[in-house]
Amino acid sequence: MKTNKIFFKISLTILLLVFGFVSSSFTPENNEPSSVAPRVKNIILLIGDGMGITHISGLMSVSGHNLNMTTAKHIGFTQTHSYDNYVTDSAASGTAIASGKKTKNGMIGMDPDSNNVVLITEKVRKQKKMSFGVVSTSAVTHATPASFVAHNISRNDYEGIALDFVRTQPDVFIGGGKANFMNRRDQRDLIKVLERNDYEVVYTMEELKNADGEKVAGLLADEHMPRFSEGRDYMLAEATYKAIELLSRNDRGFFLMVEASQIDWGGHSNDAQYILEEAYDLDVALGVALTFALNDRNTLVLLTADHETGGMSLTGGNIEEKSIIAKFTTTTHTGVIVPVFAFGAGAEYFTGFYDNTELNEKMCEVLRLR
Ligand code: MG
Ligand code: ZN
Repeated sequence: MKTNKIFFKISLTILLLVFGFVSSSFTPENNEPSSVAPRVKNIILLIGDGMGITHISGLMSVSGHNLNMTTAKHIGFTQTHSYDNYVTDSAASGTAIASGKKTKNGMIGMDPDSNNVVLITEKVRKQKKMSFGVVSTSAVTHATPASFVAHNISRNDYEGIALDFVRTQPDVFIGGGKANFMNRRDQRDLIKVLERNDYEVVYTMEELKNADGEKVAGLLADEHMPRFSEGRDYMLAEATYKAIELLSRNDRGFFLMVEASQIDWGGHSNDAQYILEEAYDLDVALGVALTFALNDRNTLVLLTADHETGGMSLTGGNIEEKSIIAKFTTTTHTGVIVPVFAFGAGAEYFTGFYDNTELNEKMCEVLRLR
């Protein structure tokens, strides 16, 4: 499959104009990986769902190597297998990253015996009085964002997961999933409950830009957000900007998870163009995070994936034409390692090969969480 190069030429120009090109501005004083964890105030964790090395490699080619992610100087790799399967799903890997515990595919915020595990978002609030938020291009109740907020035996219990959003009350959550809060089988109107709990609930990007509530819920679609190229536009980057603006009001720091949900869906449908657009969109959101971190100096930015999707390979291409030929080996996930790109404060602590549960441990260590 040949990819459409024109799209990338145009949109990358926009990216570079709007956010500037973040280069190697984060040069740590000591390049040696330290055994003592550096201290970090804020973490922005960006997850490309299903984004493997090949997806990134393809994006490098079609973008002419003009990417934020490839400015990383500190790179690690994680293995992603779940408790019960060599090939993880997003629920088990999201739970591993959020809690440091392996679980069975399909489970959210629970160990294999269905006990709740403690999430990093719960730790930052309880132990440090930090704020936390999640942003995604899927329903916020979908597996990846849910793993940072909810505890449920099944990722498919979207309405139950929505209840956990109401109980947990993230300081900010932005994505789709409005129907899981409004049109429920139990007839409960969770929007009203959110508003009673001092949430400003908004339904459009325009409303979101003006939101300044103590807590903000952006429910921008009934289910999932549309594709980047089919009307979503720069929602992910703009929502990331807004979430950082709202969360950074807390002097004690914040934890923000940003998910590009649909790279995975491009992988499932073996659609290289879909993958590349969505991965590019994530790179723009990364630019927003890096711009904040560059000024703040106490913020760690991590970009990783929960697993690879599609078993994608590049069997040909043309550097000058910025095109690739992609082949796929599966319509599901694969068990290959995925990269961790680390930027900003404490980035050097995230190099090397480790397990996705250790990514959680490292984040807890740099935030001085128990
Ligand atoms: Mg996901
Ligand atoms: Zn998937």
